[in-house]
Amino acid sequence: MDIYKRNLELEREIKEKTEELNKANNTMLTMSNIWEMMNSSEPLTSVLDTIVNSLQAQMGYQNVLVITKEQEKEEVFFQVKSHSESKLIQKLKENNGNDSIKDYRIPFNENFILEQALKEHKIQSSNDVQHVIRNIMINLAHEFVYEVIRTTQSKSIIVVPIYRKQNESMTECREFGCMLVFSKRPEVTDNELNFLTLFANQIELAITIAGLFEEIRKQAVTDPLTGLYNRRYFEENIDKEAERALRLGQPFSLISLDLDHLKTINDTYGHQYGDVAIKAISDVLKNKARSIDIPARIGGEEFNILLPGVDSYGAMMVAERIRAAIEETPLEKIGHVTASIGVAAFLEHSTNVFDLTELADQAMYRAKINGRNQVQMTQKQKSSNWQKIAVNAFLDIISKQRVQIPSEIAGDITARLSSVSVGEKDAKEVIYSVVDILTQSYNSTYQAGFTKSKLHLAVQIAQKMNMAKDEIDKLKIAVLLYDIGNIMIPESIFRKEDELTKEEKELIRSHPVIAARDILKPISSIQDIIPIIENHHENWDGSGYPGKAAGNAIPLSSQIILLVDAFYALTQDRPYRKAYDIDKAIEIIKQGEGTKWSTELVEAFIPLVIKDDRE
Ligand code: GH3
Ligand code: MG
Repeated sequence: MDIYKRNLELEREIKEKTEELNKANNTMLTMSNIWEMMNSSEPLTSVLDTIVNSLQAQMGYQNVLVITKEQEKEEVFFQVKSHSESKLIQKLKENNGNDSIKDYRIPFNENFILEQALKEHKIQSSNDVQHVIRNIMINLAHEFVYEVIRTTQSKSIIVVPIYRKQNESMTECREFGCMLVFSKRPEVTDNELNFLTLFANQIELAITIAGLFEEIRKQAVTDPLTGLYNRRYFEENIDKEAERALRLGQPFSLISLDLDHLKTINDTYGHQYGDVAIKAISDVLKNKARSIDIPARIGGEEFNILLPGVDSYGAMMVAERIRAAIEETPLEKIGHVTASIGVAAFLEHSTNVFDLTELADQAMYRAKINGRNQVQMTQKQKSSNWQKIAVNAFLDIISKQRVQIPSEIAGDITARLSSVSVGEKDAKEVIYSVVDILTQSYNSTYQAGFTKSKLHLAVQIAQKMNMAKDEIDKLKIAVLLYDIGNIMIPESIFRKEDELTKEEKELIRSHPVIAARDILKPISSIQDIIPIIENHHENWDGSGYPGKAAGNAIPLSSQIILLVDAFYALTQDRPYRKAYDIDKAIEIIKQGEGTKWSTELVEAFIPLVIKDDRE
């Protein structure tokens, strides 16, 4: 009898152990399946679905859900991320108009079992199933919740907290959410707890891996079709390069390239051949780039290359090599393709990344307009600036009637100025002619061509005095404008043969002030020209007018204008005297050395006019 009993007990034990073994075996298999899934590129939600369904099957649970803790502005809530399939879920879906219940929101409640589990880092369970269901389904219709409670076979609800690992060593973690288990058994065994913990770990691993995948995806730097760098990478690096270039004063260049007639290639041979052309160009870019260059595909058929440490000259050479290589490489079926290329250099053309990109693009479009298959450099803003300012100032003066001139002259000047294309060869000539006409309107003896000569002489002196380019540009505008106040003086005074009266002399003396203050003050673009004009009757020794400024307190541009103006006055007929010849004029200028003008200025000036005379 004892032996029989012992046998029975042994049999039972063996059965139990076998069951346990089977369970463990199943768990291992399930784990291995989950592990495989996690390492494939399956999205996180599919991995979670597999985990919750396996758990339900393994442990005979009524339902398993994974819910995440979310925050939207002020509102904190839990959201269903994944769930096993069951009658309960089916009911919930039906209630939801047969829509998925993923994204269903459970309102946050500090004293509720979900938040407690997370806060205490500990699995929680409750036998008060009704209470839990009511709290979870707080937003659903009363009758429906009652129906769920009435039909549920759950005797307990287990809440397993889940955390997202924050760093590699997995020491830091952040609340992710909970696994919510509806169990038909009222008690939770130790074995069960172990299982649940195992599955929770698995979920945490899945989340971590999915997070890593996401990070890698975000950090991907290459364009899949061409293997070139992508736009994001390019933009990050051009910003860094600009910062470095400014700090170290080293240039870098930008090449902008666009495939010519890709649309025609697509239309004629099909899109896949368009792709072939894009890839071929990418290969050329890769081959021609140094390891520190960044060739990138910016858009469909748009490429940029960043060339660190390369100035515009170097970039033009690289661009031309790329252009030639593209043209030389024949492609299957399509034959030869070409590209249009623009070049811009940081520091030289701009110190701003946005503008630099624009400039390279504009240069590329110029290459397109000029006939494609060519390289264009960003055009420097050369001397066109002073011309633009001058044209606009004169247009402003005439159109707003800041000076009184006969309407036919005003019409002529406006027509001339409106036809000017700033930067073109004859733009300067038009500007000079306008000043000639304006001057002749009050001084009929003024010779056409004088303005140009005066301006040339002034610039030559300025260059000898080592004046900076932008200062010379201002001087040019000042030369064009310094006598404009004379228009306000009655012509009779200019023509007068007798000596001028005291009042008349005073009127002529006041003209620079009238010009600067009344006529030019309202024109914002020439505010820095006004002081030059205001000072152009001041003498080196302080004996001039209107401010009696002396020496270097007088702007150099004003000193130059005084000298140039005097020289041209001396060599011109006046109503009260004949013109002096050059030698006599030079002699008179020399007499003024140290009083009217500085020795340095006279020394710079004399060789220029002597040379002129001999030519
Ligand atoms: P242009 O010489 O003026 O640049 O002429 P285009 O035809 O190259 O330029 P357009 O801007 O008129 O057309 C660009 C075409 O490039 C239209 C677009 O469908 C095609 N495209 C853009 N990206 C891709 C791509 O990745 N593959 C292919 N095959 N075609 C692309
Ligand atoms: Mg194109």
